[in-house]
Amino acid sequence: MTLTKDRLNKYLNIRRELSESKYINVNPIQRGGVLSKEARMALIEWGDGYSVCDFCPPQTPRLDKITNPPISDFYKDLAEFLGMDEARVVTRCREAKLIAFMMLARPGDYIVLDSLAHYTSYLAAEVVGLRIKEVPNSGYPEFRVSPEGYAAKIEEVVKETGRPPALALVTHVDYLYGNMVNAAKIAEVCREYGVPVVLNAAYTAGVSPVDGRKLGVDVIVSSGHKSWAACAPTGILAMTEEAAKKILRTSSVEGEWSKRRFAMKELALLGCTVMGAPLITLIASFPHVVERVGRWEEEVEKARFVVRELERIDGFKHLGTRPKMHTLIHMESQSFYEVSKKHKRRGYFLYDELKARGIVGIQPGLTKHFKFNVYGLTWYQVKHFVESFHEIARKYGVEVR
Ligand SMILES: *Cc1c(COP(=O)(O)O)cnc(C)c1O
Repeated sequence: MTLTKDRLNKYLNIRRELSESKYINVNPIQRGGVLSKEARMALIEWGDGYSVCDFCPPQTPRLDKITNPPISDFYKDLAEFLGMDEARVVTRCREAKLIAFMMLARPGDYIVLDSLAHYTSYLAAEVVGLRIKEVPNSGYPEFRVSPEGYAAKIEEVVKETGRPPALALVTHVDYLYGNMVNAAKIAEVCREYGVPVVLNAAYTAGVSPVDGRKLGVDVIVSSGHKSWAACAPTGILAMTEEAAKKILRTSSVEGEWSKRRFAMKELALLGCTVMGAPLITLIASFPHVVERVGRWEEEVEKARFVVRELERIDGFKHLGTRPKMHTLIHMESQSFYEVSKKHKRRGYFLYDELKARGIVGIQPGLTKHFKFNVYGLTWYQVKHFVESFHEIARKYGVEVR
């Protein structure tokens, strides 16, 4: 064994270089997951192992039945907040999708999904053995996904197999362009064919108002660490009562020798899911989250301001639908790409220049296209962000109109 003290020392006192207190982090995946101060406190108190399991009720031993801490109440409030009947916390958005796909479809079934879907939507479908039909998007520069596209793909499945697909997955806001689809209209189309809809609200629920009942969807999945001011891993799985009958089906297995049964346990959840600190951060942030979704309009205003200000830079153009409906922004920046070709640091010049101004989160090396998210920044930070870009542009002789 050579795990000497020297080798192990590097694991002690690990510091986070890019902590929130030191930098403005505009990485699209980081903005909605910044902890509330309540969650940051709770994290320390609840950090030990199975910390939420002290008062697990012996008659009904299941995470959602625990009343101290108030997990049982939280699940009810969470469902109500999303306009759904039932809610569970799982480890990640991707796990929520996997569970929904697994319980609502069978191997060989079709799922229709938008062509901007997150890779984990494809992988979840693959794990379950589903066949995929992609709804195309309109391509450069808007990359729009339309309700008609869903209708066409459902028709295609009907023609090919004689019946509609088992499921439709709708990415509410995609991770590439921050486009918001017309989820209500898509759900209406799907309902006409009797196709259940899973709404992927990883980038919307928790930061903006999402009401599953109003949208007419069957399942909502979301990501606690992306959009609910919670630590990883936390995912949200919310559903209608009807979908819950299938998704939350309990176990029926019996030990062939011992005759042991586990009829109380929700099968696809393997009984219990997130049984410690991450769940508590999600709960502790919930009041903050309920409050902040009411301020979503102002967040969108910030995004539109940033787009307007950055497009004053020669060669800058935002990609995706207009006007911006979300705070995730994708910029094309031909002029900075030209600068990078002559710069000794190549594409890294932009990262260096931004970091020197206290801004991180734009992928190092990228200049031609890059993404960022201004959600939750103060107006002061937003202005510093755009002024930094203007300054960098002028420094390298790029015109700011
Ligand atoms: C970030 C993201 C995910 C992944 O979320 P996890 O909670 O990390 O699984 C899934 N789908 C979309 C659309 C995303 O943007």
